[in-house]
Amino acid sequence: MPRLIADRPVLRMTSELGRVMAAARAREQAGERVMHLERGEPDFDTPAHIVEALAKAARDGYTHYPDQRGEASLREVLEEKLARENGIRAHVDDIVVTAGGTHALFLAMQCLLSAGDELLVLSPHWMAIPKLVGFADGARYRTMATYLEILAGKWSPAEFATRLRAALRPETRGVYLNTPNNPTGAVLSREHLAALAEVASERDLWVLSDEAYEHLVYDGTKHVSLASLPGMAERTLSIFTFSKSYAMTGWRVGYVVAPEPLRPLMGPLLAFYSTHGVFPAAQIAARAAITGPQACVGEMRDAYDHRRKLLIEGLKGGTAVTAPVPKGSFYAFANVAEARNGRDLWALVDEWLGFGVAVLPGTAFGPEYGDWVRLGLATRAEDVAEAARRIARHAGARTAKA
Ligand code: PMP
Repeated sequence: MPRLIADRPVLRMTSELGRVMAAARAREQAGERVMHLERGEPDFDTPAHIVEALAKAARDGYTHYPDQRGEASLREVLEEKLARENGIRAHVDDIVVTAGGTHALFLAMQCLLSAGDELLVLSPHWMAIPKLVGFADGARYRTMATYLEILAGKWSPAEFATRLRAALRPETRGVYLNTPNNPTGAVLSREHLAALAEVASERDLWVLSDEAYEHLVYDGTKHVSLASLPGMAERTLSIFTFSKSYAMTGWRVGYVVAPEPLRPLMGPLLAFYSTHGVFPAAQIAARAAITGPQACVGEMRDAYDHRRKLLIEGLKGGTAVTAPVPKGSFYAFANVAEARNGRDLWALVDEWLGFGVAVLPGTAFGPEYGDWVRLGLATRAEDVAEAARRIARHAGARTAKA
């Protein structure tokens, strides 16, 4: 029998989300009700006008091989959107349409990381990052706990800069930033971003700025794009997606804005040989998302905000589980040190599934988060409220008995 699986570490990586979802499914098949707080995907349908635009574009013949950089008519409106909303002055040829933000990150890491290079990943971080670094053969990453500290107001911008400087090594080539952050809901202020910009310039680093949740900010919080800061466009790759803002996860449309030297690589080489671009009709529909009415974005944001408040309120019913109030994204990161009570984190995850609440263990977001779980708001408000009540009741009760 031939050896079918290559000896590459990335091929041996496992997924915590897959494990939780399988366990949740098994319980549902056995007739139990499960509230899906493990999910990270909008539960809304894609707005009708975007779906209609797809159907029309397909009928109009947007069904052939795509331009690997993306449809020019989409990139033109993205150029305007980036200037208007993000303060990023991008040349249309430096925008590449990708199969979602994941593909944009994949392309970026393929461009930027070679064997022996290190990416400093601010954490807790989205769980795909280790895999995406893993595909860049021989590259490594190291984490730097950041978002909980900033969300809690513990780090001034100067303190953040000091921590960054201390974390850098000679082999560090770049930093992965994600604001609004998955999983904590932290949103970095302009001042904190300026601190990162200062260190990146001083040490000649590039930055991957993952802005997948750019439209999901609450309590008057503003999302600031790193590449809009002076001198940062030339060293920042900004990653955006239609997945969250327009509930378009299945469509696989995102984009990356890269500095000019990467122009020959991103589209013509990497996008071409990885996916050969994105379904043109989906890109025309994405254009309609950008140019059409934006009320849908605000309505979904308001719905997540409502659920966020229900979650925080509901958790107050108990004392064993506490979550810093998220300022953005659609997650809360909850501390379960007391509820875990010395047990393995997976034991807690299984116990919570037993009372109908699926969550993602914090270790998915970095090895140092064994006392945390991610609670997602991308599920019905009733389920979020009920899940929070059950967590407060059962998790608290277990601790009281112990
Ligand atoms: N970045 C972050 C932080 C995310 O949470 C996600 C999706 N969960 C993505 C990027 C990529 O999303 P997509 O590939 O659907 O655009």
